[in-house]
Amino acid sequence: MHYFDYKNSVFHAEDVSMETLVEAYGTPLYVYSYKTLLRHFKSYDDSFKDFPHIICYALKANSNAAILRTFASEGGGADIVSGGELFRALRAGIPPEKIVYAGVGKKEDEIIYALRENILMFNVESEQELMAIDKAAAKLGKSAPIALRINPDVDPATHAKITTGHKKNKFGIPIEGALEFYKIAHKLKHVKIVGIHEHIGSQIISLKPFLVALQRLVSLIDELKAEGIEIKYLDIGGGLGIQYLDEIPPHPSELAEKIKPILQGRNLTIVMEPGRTLVGNAGLLVTKVLYTKKGHDRDFIIVDAGMNDMIRPAMYDAYHHIMPVHKKKRKDVFADIVGPICESGDFLGKDRELPSMLQGEYAVVMSAGAYGFSMSSNYNSRPRTAEVLVNGSEHYLIRKRQTYEDLVRDELIPEFIK
Ligand SMILES: *Cc1c(COP(=O)(O)O)cnc(C)c1O
Repeated sequence: MHYFDYKNSVFHAEDVSMETLVEAYGTPLYVYSYKTLLRHFKSYDDSFKDFPHIICYALKANSNAAILRTFASEGGGADIVSGGELFRALRAGIPPEKIVYAGVGKKEDEIIYALRENILMFNVESEQELMAIDKAAAKLGKSAPIALRINPDVDPATHAKITTGHKKNKFGIPIEGALEFYKIAHKLKHVKIVGIHEHIGSQIISLKPFLVALQRLVSLIDELKAEGIEIKYLDIGGGLGIQYLDEIPPHPSELAEKIKPILQGRNLTIVMEPGRTLVGNAGLLVTKVLYTKKGHDRDFIIVDAGMNDMIRPAMYDAYHHIMPVHKKKRKDVFADIVGPICESGDFLGKDRELPSMLQGEYAVVMSAGAYGFSMSSNYNSRPRTAEVLVNGSEHYLIRKRQTYEDLVRDELIPEFIK
């Protein structure tokens, strides 16, 4: 559920029309709904209210400070995958004791940074990483809280590029060897086992893979207990899907209902790492139709947002619903909605039957709040877009549009060429 819709035939974010926003900020423009962000966070929080839990928002989905601050104010934590994300999380006021750190390639300086800041736990993805963490903690005279990220070998039936818990993926520690691995960690002087972690993929629209994976982890928790290794945090990762087209993803409360019996009688704090579910449908991208033209077997609608602004269609064959800002009687056309970038992969929508749009009109690309801006780039020397947060009838710029000057700011010309 989100707070974007037509009002008097003009598309609105909450009570603000897209006309107002494009006039104030230009296009392309990311627009977020504050009420939707809150609603999504609260629906997770309420769903799990019967158990001790921490919602560690996966920053990589959208790391704008205003969005982080929104979740931090509601008691949210963070799932980070880099030193840069740790920096952002702390700066937004997310308490370190609610930060978990995953990723297969943590560097020494990043590990030290996280140790100094006393994060909740490292989600360890390999034996060499474990040793590196132990060594860094020894240097600082600390004990590093860790969980092992288990690869439970399940098929989450999602796009191959966003599967992470299958045995062919680079992520985590194969479940067969996990018990032995925990025993190794248990012997180390400068790590302290506190948890167990899994994250099996993204945009998963069935609960089954979650439950299969969870069952495997719970069996492992029991085996560990028999070895005298106590697990306090069960981190079930993120990955729940959202509606882009006609998917019917499970609600977090359905996940909670299924998890309840598994947790009954166990002294576990549940950690969740939702990314897409919190922000995906809380954001959209507004773009202007620059030109239209007739192609060989289809129309082309050329808009001012490209794959540098929104790479999901090019990268994951992702579907994003595209609609004109002004609702009126139109005939449908068969068209590709493409950007200005010099790549054939630069499209926002392909092979679409959609309402015809004219030069100069505006369109909205829906469900763009997750992995939209955060994956954007300056390719083709295009300044990054602005971002706006709407709350009721108010709107706030939460990221300035980049300038041409911003594009070259960090570049240096060696003296000998000058
Ligand atoms: C990306 C990621 C998430 C968030 O995934 P979503 O599909 O956006 O919910 C959570 N945990 C880890 C470790 C991740 O890499």
